Amino acid sequence: MDTTATYVCAWCGQESITEVDVSQGMRQKYIEDCQVCCRPMQFFLVFDEEDYSATISTEPLDG
Ligand SMILES: [Zn+2]
Repeated sequence: MDTTATYVCAWCGQESITEVDVSQGMRQKYIEDCQVCCRPMQFFLVFDEEDYSATISTEPLDG
Protein backbone atom coordinates (compact mmCIF):
# COMPACT_ATOMS: atom_id res chain seq x y z
CA MET A 1 0.00 0.00 0.00
CA ASP A 2 1.28 3.40 -0.92
CA THR A 3 1.96 5.70 1.98
CA THR A 4 2.71 8.72 -0.15
CA ALA A 5 0.50 10.85 -2.38
CA THR A 6 1.04 13.82 -4.62
CA TYR A 7 -0.68 17.13 -4.17
CA VAL A 8 -0.68 20.39 -6.08
CA CYS A 9 -0.08 23.39 -3.87
CA ALA A 10 -3.00 25.82 -3.70
CA TRP A 11 -0.50 28.68 -3.31
CA CYS A 12 2.43 28.08 -5.63
CA GLY A 13 1.02 25.43 -7.98
CA GLN A 14 3.97 23.08 -7.48
CA GLU A 15 3.34 19.37 -7.40
CA SER A 16 4.84 17.70 -4.35
CA ILE A 17 4.80 14.40 -2.49
CA THR A 18 3.48 14.02 1.05
CA GLU A 19 3.16 11.06 3.39
CA VAL A 20 -0.35 9.79 4.11
CA ASP A 21 -1.64 7.31 6.68
CA VAL A 22 -4.73 5.27 5.83
CA SER A 23 -5.08 4.15 9.45
CA GLN A 24 -6.26 7.68 10.27
CA GLY A 25 -9.38 7.18 8.14
CA MET A 26 -10.54 6.89 4.55
CA ARG A 27 -11.36 10.60 4.48
CA GLN A 28 -9.14 13.06 6.25
CA LYS A 29 -8.97 16.82 6.61
CA TYR A 30 -5.90 18.43 8.07
CA ILE A 31 -3.66 21.46 7.90
CA GLU A 32 -0.14 21.18 6.57
CA ASP A 33 2.45 23.56 5.17
CA CYS A 34 3.49 23.32 1.54
CA GLN A 35 6.89 21.68 1.29
CA VAL A 36 7.86 24.07 -1.50
CA CYS A 37 6.62 27.51 -0.39
CA CYS A 38 5.91 26.70 3.32
CA ARG A 39 2.49 28.35 3.26
CA PRO A 40 -0.36 26.67 5.18
CA MET A 41 -3.04 24.72 3.40
CA GLN A 42 -6.13 22.75 4.24
CA PHE A 43 -5.68 19.25 2.89
CA PHE A 44 -8.60 17.07 1.91
CA LEU A 45 -7.41 13.49 1.59
CA VAL A 46 -9.58 10.67 0.25
CA PHE A 47 -8.52 7.04 -0.13
CA ASP A 48 -10.03 4.86 -2.84
CA GLU A 49 -11.88 1.97 -1.23
CA GLU A 50 -10.62 -0.58 -3.75
CA ASP A 51 -6.95 0.13 -4.29
CA TYR A 52 -6.35 2.62 -1.43
CA SER A 53 -4.87 5.14 -3.79
CA ALA A 54 -4.92 8.58 -2.23
CA THR A 55 -6.34 11.74 -3.78
CA ILE A 56 -5.55 15.10 -2.24
CA SER A 57 -7.12 18.46 -2.89
CA THR A 58 -5.89 21.63 -1.23
CA GLU A 59 -7.25 25.02 -0.23
CA PRO A 60 -5.13 27.98 0.79
CA LEU A 61 -5.24 29.03 4.44
CA ASP A 62 -4.30 32.43 5.75
CA GLY A 63 -1.62 32.63 8.40
ZN1 LIG B 1 3.47 25.85 -2.27
